Amino acid sequence: MSCRKYRPKSELFRIMKTGEGILIDPDRHHFGRSAYLCRNQACVACEEKRRNLSKIFGMPVTSDLVRKLKEVLHAE
Ligand SMILES: [Zn+2]
Repeated sequence: MSCRKYRPKSELFRIMKTGEGILIDPDRHHFGRSAYLCRNQACVACEEKRRNLSKIFGMPVTSDLVRKLKEVLHAE
C-alpha cells in the first residue's frame, strides 16, 4: 500500500488480479493475487500517479480501474 500506514481492512480497498482482470473488492469465490489500497481520495490519487499496483500485479492498472475506485469513494 502506497502510504505505508497501518489501517484496518475496512479502510482499505482489496484489489485482486484474476483471470477476469483486476477486480475491486472481489467476492470470496475469486482467487488471485491481491493487494490493498487505502480507501481514501489521497491514496487513490497517489496510485493514479505512481501506479504501484502495476508493479505488484505485473500488468497495467488502467485509468478505467482508477475511475472505478473514485466512483466507489464517491458512493460511500
Ligand atoms: Zn494509503
